[in-house]
Amino acid sequence: MSPIGWTESQILTAVDGRRISGTGTCLFSGISIDSRTVRSGDLFVAVRGERHDGHRFCAEVAEMGILGIMIAERETENLPWRRWAEKGVFCVAVPDTTTALGALAAFNRIRAGIKVVAVTGSNGKTTTRSMTAAVIGRRYRTLATAGNFNNEIGLPLTLFNIEATHEWAVLELGMNHVGEIRRLAGICRPDIGIITNIGPAHLKDLGSVDGVAAAKGELLDEMKAGATAILNADDPFCRRLGKNRSFPVVHFGLTHGADITASGMKISPKGVTFTLRFPEREVPVHLGIPGRFMVMNALAAAAAGWVAGVSPEEIVRGLERFQPVAGRLGVIQTRKGVFLIDDTYNANPHSMRAAVDALAILRSGRRAIVVLGDMFELGAAAEALHRSVGEWVAESGVTRFYAIGNFASAYLDGALKKGMTAKDTFSGSKSQVVEDLKRSVGPGDWVLVKGSRGMAMETILNDIRTWA
Ligand code: ATP
Ligand code: MG
Repeated sequence: MSPIGWTESQILTAVDGRRISGTGTCLFSGISIDSRTVRSGDLFVAVRGERHDGHRFCAEVAEMGILGIMIAERETENLPWRRWAEKGVFCVAVPDTTTALGALAAFNRIRAGIKVVAVTGSNGKTTTRSMTAAVIGRRYRTLATAGNFNNEIGLPLTLFNIEATHEWAVLELGMNHVGEIRRLAGICRPDIGIITNIGPAHLKDLGSVDGVAAAKGELLDEMKAGATAILNADDPFCRRLGKNRSFPVVHFGLTHGADITASGMKISPKGVTFTLRFPEREVPVHLGIPGRFMVMNALAAAAAGWVAGVSPEEIVRGLERFQPVAGRLGVIQTRKGVFLIDDTYNANPHSMRAAVDALAILRSGRRAIVVLGDMFELGAAAEALHRSVGEWVAESGVTRFYAIGNFASAYLDGALKKGMTAKDTFSGSKSQVVEDLKRSVGPGDWVLVKGSRGMAMETILNDIRTWA
């Protein structure tokens, strides 16, 4: 199967724009924004991204013999579209090409008649989205966001992959600013909206956790009529968002009174087992990834499956087949018997605590070492938030604490305040840290490595793997 095609008139119906050239008869096989991968039967939309402006590549694309090009109104003065028109290229001008890309995606979602699950939250979006797709995919033909395609460009590109046989799409909505979730949810109009949790991420732009809650809550305002919200019962901000709504809200979590919940949780290096409880059934589950918050992500996915009409047995099969994504709390046992917890993909205060908690459970009495890099994008609160993670590390009984980056001393100050001694802590460059790790890490030790994406903490992890 291939994505659903487009006629010129469908494109003009979907967007607020005008045809500046074209015969009215073109049929497009797809939509592309990338001059390196565009195919001749596509409509090329010239989007301005962070690094490149697609308008710069229109001439090249026109030379290739592309069928259609969409450009911004303001560029019609500068671009030689008349020359392209002579070659029979269909050209459309729109006020804003990124908005138009979203409008095309919204049109595609509606005409395909599929149902949509949208996942947002501070942590665990990608994991929950993948688990939900695995669960819903047990019963329905399901499209899922690829990679981290969760913004105003990535989300439309995902929706262009809808094929005629798809029944559900499971999408991740990310955000940095107020209004972003509203826009993304407006494009995909969820039938099921999941908020995984609300915590201090992107504080630089949103100011406070209340600001984060309001921004995530935009999802609930933009759902389709008849939709269901799935909210974290253990999260006070989520609970507040769910109050006095005109649509059904399903709560997941470990708190008493959650609709979808877990009991009898047992965590080991091999993963976690628990009893998954639906309102009228319960089923045993084993997840191959350790960590209490993986159970939370699984409960959110199970709730979505339950709302979508997937049976409890199939929900469990979907969850159990889920494979963790590299860098997200995977446990690696080295040749010399060191246990490495790879959570190098990203970090914020919430996920740092979650990872330290996982370490505290998994170590079961062995030495526990943490190697933490800076958490980015925390604005004015950065210093205090690093210090409080440092305190958490000490309170969790970590044996040795390595800190790297501009906030290394804030991390260690927090740890010292809560009783770690100077000789249990170390800050320095990556290579200094690795040299010291070589001296201190031995068989049976547990080592957690984590930091924000920009810290590329996987370089340390990969180094450890060569000698441990
Ligand atoms: P991003 O905003 O970078 O796209 P994301 O929200 O998609 O992140 P994931 O990629 O699923 O999140 O997970 C990233 C990290 O967040 C994990 O490695 C883990 O440390 C942590 N994490 C995952 N799920 C949870 C959760 N439910 N609660 C707290 N932390 C979590
Ligand atoms: Mg993600």
